[in-house]
Amino acid sequence: MEMSERDREVLEALAAARKKHEDLADLLDFYYDLYEVQFAAKVHLPDPGVRDDMAVRWRLEGGIPQLTFDQLAVELEAFAELVARIRQVLLQHNPSWELEDEGHAPEQLVSLARHVFEAWDTLTSPRVEDGPGSEDSAQPVRPSALTVGFALAPYLQKASETILPRLDLERWVQGYCPVCGGRPNFSLLEAKRGARRLICSRCNSLWQYSRVGCPFCRSKEKQTYFASEDGVYRLYVCPDCKRYLKTIDLRDLERPVQPVVERLLTVGMDLAAQAEGLRT
Ligand SMILES: [Zn+2]
Ligand SMILES: [Zn+2]
Repeated sequence: MEMSERDREVLEALAAARKKHEDLADLLDFYYDLYEVQFAAKVHLPDPGVRDDMAVRWRLEGGIPQLTFDQLAVELEAFAELVARIRQVLLQHNPSWELEDEGHAPEQLVSLARHVFEAWDTLTSPRVEDGPGSEDSAQPVRPSALTVGFALAPYLQKASETILPRLDLERWVQGYCPVCGGRPNFSLLEAKRGARRLICSRCNSLWQYSRVGCPFCRSKEKQTYFASEDGVYRLYVCPDCKRYLKTIDLRDLERPVQPVVERLLTVGMDLAAQAEGLRT
């Protein structure tokens, strides 16, 4: 089996972006190799379990994400192999890193994946609670958790591809993902009406969210934003929770856009925001 058309298009867009953005060569080369491994793995994953229509709707209306970890049906050996492949990609692009994930039993890796799924807002950083006290946030990201998070990504993407089309998203008004519960880390202002769609940092689901207010803390305070020089990108900042959201404005944009790739191309905005003490 071949990887899906959609994933192939993401890789093509990434390769095209790589030619234009020499300054981001290291980052884009890394993500190309990472996505290639993730997309190839996705082809062989089991279909995630699906709920009946009543249960789907009940969760939608209750603000409960659809997916639980057990629905992913993660197989021990297959997951451990994927972790090993991703570890190779990480080391190839970051030779100085010391990754701690060698020698872990498959059971340990899957149990770490469950922890990342259930307790983290994104796949690469522990949840930051409002205020201090979260056990995870006190510790730096362990490299093994990073590898495991990257290995979990194709499972979540596959779940999103199966589950998201079944959802009546008019009923979902939350700032977190209707499929996996993850936080958005990019958004799009749609070409036609300027409606805002958020993209999940974990499974890449897209869903519509109110143009006003903060998807993280639901503050109705006016979000400030900083626009890029060309006016294409915006960095929205919430005055209450100090979280930021990168955004691409599609209203006057002629070129086709792959949100997953745009999210990487705007890494400069992440660095600028984080230098100001803001977080995703
Ligand atoms: Zn998600
Ligand atoms: Zn906020």
